[in-house]
Amino acid sequence: MQVEPFTFSSFMTNAYLCHDQGEAVLVDASCETEAECEQVMTVIEEQGLDVQHLLLTHAHVDHIFGCTFFEEAFGQRFKAHEAAVPFIERAEEQATAFGVEVDPPSVPTAHLAEGDTVSFGDVTLEVLHTPGHSPDSISFVDRPGRQALTGDVLFQNSIGRTQGLPETSRAQLLNSVTETLLPLGDDVTIYPGHGPATTIGRERAQNPFVQEALRA
Ligand SMILES: [Zn+2]
Ligand SMILES: [Zn+2]
Repeated sequence: MQVEPFTFSSFMTNAYLCHDQGEAVLVDASCETEAECEQVMTVIEEQGLDVQHLLLTHAHVDHIFGCTFFEEAFGQRFKAHEAAVPFIERAEEQATAFGVEVDPPSVPTAHLAEGDTVSFGDVTLEVLHTPGHSPDSISFVDRPGRQALTGDVLFQNSIGRTQGLPETSRAQLLNSVTETLLPLGDDVTIYPGHGPATTIGRERAQNPFVQEALRA
């Protein structure tokens, strides 16, 4: 699986175009402006990719800015965890709270839950429920390829925020990191919702929040 990262908006939120054998999935729609959305479209067109699925790691406003654009471009809806629904329904409220604007996306009709899979090309992504930063947080794991897209759960040297946001739980977040992500294996590369790609091994060894959780 090839992973093309993009970083968009004042939130510096990542979106990822993952592809294999000419088929692709888009993970998160963090592009806030049409010009940002067009950057993703240019890569899709230049590489002749067939977009099979639109996916959300979670429905915080900085990850859903571009949903409407891609829903219209590809005639399909984003797939997300069921707990994303109330966040998407309150998209404009979320945007107002952060002083930004959003075109509210469609509520997903296909919900993803722990153990579900999403296939494209020769890749099968496994869905893991990794709540804490938000109740709908899910991670997409390519086990044979040793790669995972983890949203706002684990970052290089940091973890997802659990203050000032609705329905967060620091204990649940740390549990998602130690019980769900770390067991994927130190050689797994993770592509987070913010900041650079890292590895499970690097974060196990150097991330102060992970080390604190492991000592607890
Ligand atoms: Zn978030
Ligand atoms: Zn985020």
